[in-house]
Amino acid sequence: VTLIIQPETSPAFVSGSPLGKIAFGGDYNPEQWTDAVAEEDIALMHEAGVNLVSVGIFSWTMLEPEPGRYDFRRMDEILDRLHRGGISVDLATPTAAPPQWFLAAHPDSVPVRQDGTRAGTASRQVFCPSSPEYREAAAAITRAIVDRYHDHPAVVMWHVHNEYGCHNGRCYCDGSAAAFRQWLKARYGTLDALNDAWGNAFWSQTLTAWDQVVAPRTAPTFLNPAHELDYARFSSDELLACYTAERDIIKAASPDAIVTTNLMAGQFGLLDYWKWAAELDMVSTDHYLFGEAERNHVDLALAADLTRSLAHGRPWLLMEHSTGAVNWQPRNIAKRSGEMARNSLTHLARGADGILFFQWRASIAGAEKYHSAMLPHAGTDSRIWRETRELGEQLSGLASVAGSRVHTEIAILFDYHAWWAADLGGRPSEDIRYADQIRRTYDALWDAGYTVDFAHPESDLSRYRLVVAPALYLVSDAGAANIASFHDRGGSVVVGYFSGIVDSVDRVRVGRYPGAFRELLGASSDEFLPLRRGQKVTLSTGATASLWSEPVRADDAEIIARYTDGPAAGAAAITRRQRAWYVSTQLAPDDLRGFYVAVADSAGIARPVERPEGVEVVERRTDETRYLFVINHTDDEAAIDLPGQPWFLEVSSPGRATVSGDGLRVPPGGVGVLRW
Ligand SMILES: [Zn+2]
Repeated sequence: VTLIIQPETSPAFVSGSPLGKIAFGGDYNPEQWTDAVAEEDIALMHEAGVNLVSVGIFSWTMLEPEPGRYDFRRMDEILDRLHRGGISVDLATPTAAPPQWFLAAHPDSVPVRQDGTRAGTASRQVFCPSSPEYREAAAAITRAIVDRYHDHPAVVMWHVHNEYGCHNGRCYCDGSAAAFRQWLKARYGTLDALNDAWGNAFWSQTLTAWDQVVAPRTAPTFLNPAHELDYARFSSDELLACYTAERDIIKAASPDAIVTTNLMAGQFGLLDYWKWAAELDMVSTDHYLFGEAERNHVDLALAADLTRSLAHGRPWLLMEHSTGAVNWQPRNIAKRSGEMARNSLTHLARGADGILFFQWRASIAGAEKYHSAMLPHAGTDSRIWRETRELGEQLSGLASVAGSRVHTEIAILFDYHAWWAADLGGRPSEDIRYADQIRRTYDALWDAGYTVDFAHPESDLSRYRLVVAPALYLVSDAGAANIASFHDRGGSVVVGYFSGIVDSVDRVRVGRYPGAFRELLGASSDEFLPLRRGQKVTLSTGATASLWSEPVRADDAEIIARYTDGPAAGAAAITRRQRAWYVSTQLAPDDLRGFYVAVADSAGIARPVERPEGVEVVERRTDETRYLFVINHTDDEAAIDLPGQPWFLEVSSPGRATVSGDGLRVPPGGVGVLRW
């Protein structure tokens, strides 16, 4: 096994991949095992085709058993053994698990929940992101690890921390409140400006001294949403400062190091990953299926597309997923035969240049002992081990895919600040949840077969033909202008209900709704008419809708559909001005899918490859080569007409996919990857 990342490769690549091959491996925690087991690990990693492992993610106490005393003997052996075995290392800083000695000595560094109670300490991620003592200790252990291993030949990549914010995304302690005041001073300058931005005149919340600014702990009733929104922004920035501090220590010793931290794109919303991703040399993410969800493969595709978008189209790394069940859901449904391969190849199809797992060998103790692994408790005499080996073979057969790109013409506008603001209390309907709105939109486009990007509202949209803005409740002036300018230059835009309502400090844009998009849409309304739970309305096209309605007036737009019943009966429901559509209600899934196909046709977007329902077709390509991934999520054989000849079958699993003169046949639950 050769090193998969070429040390001479600059992380600031423009095209191609920082990885010379597709990475395959997982989190490796040999400190839980004896030397004999660790020797066996290397042999089995070779058998499986593993070429990259993440080491040391929770090893703080092993490396620093007491304050300032470092012990690297075990880690030396681990890294040397991996190097001898030709396995590359993604070396972690262990700062997601502060030692128990640290927590005993620094009780003020333990995070406080929104209700004001302090967390217990017998777990991981027990730290306040604003704690100076935590930051100092984290910097010290990072410096010690970097000093020792920055030129270790096994280390090809650095893994800072683990899943920032997963359990301590927002801390409400007094120290965090003090840091929040500094953050607000930098943002607003004066208390008057802060009072104005937050609308503090309401409910007599005007602040007359900076030390009156508190963390938004649970109160007798609603908090000021502008206060909560800024606390969400502040909290994301505080954790980001923890990341960049460690990243900078690594870069000081090793300027060309590839540094990442594992995000949780698509499943976690407390951090502004657009801002975070810009600080990573290679974007990486973790993704776990909700085992009981019927269409969890669509959730997976969404997360993969979002991760690629956060990476601005460059290859990314799937840092963790599972071979089988996880251990943290109410009922941990195991993946069945072929599912791990489908999951892995979906990530690969959507731009990943590496497929890694939590974890290499299943633990026998601790909180995650029932989390599946590449090597399960049963050892090598197991289905999971056999499928892990098969996956290793398939990925090695797909090495040439590394560095190829996914091309899309449709983007869903997505903004964490809009998410935070839209989901706060005191809104017209609690049934509008931002993540649901994004997911419904994505579902409809997935069902129609389109591969889509996500894009920040203020980003360069010029590569797209169509952008869709579901529930973009909060949009900055710059974002609204960017979207209008995209339209004026020939782009097509769909704006969903509850979009463009407030500015970037959550203040309502007055005049008829939707304030930010009235002119673009040539349509407006004077009130919100949310529907009762379960209530349906009908449109003049025969479509059905739910959740929301508005008495839309087509000021300068064509009426595509009207409400025929419900509180907005007779008013416009869907309008079109030039290439700008407004959809003022929640269309049923099939109606939404049909709507997007019609809009995409009108935007000049080519129809996706014809395929049976439940079959996913995604393309990656380079200038010379196209790779077509066909993933069959159904229990029936899938037949696909090939859009060009000759395609060559690279990989298929399980069973045999077959390619003939006029098409591809993929067995039930199988995958076929074609190269042209
Ligand atoms: Zn705190």
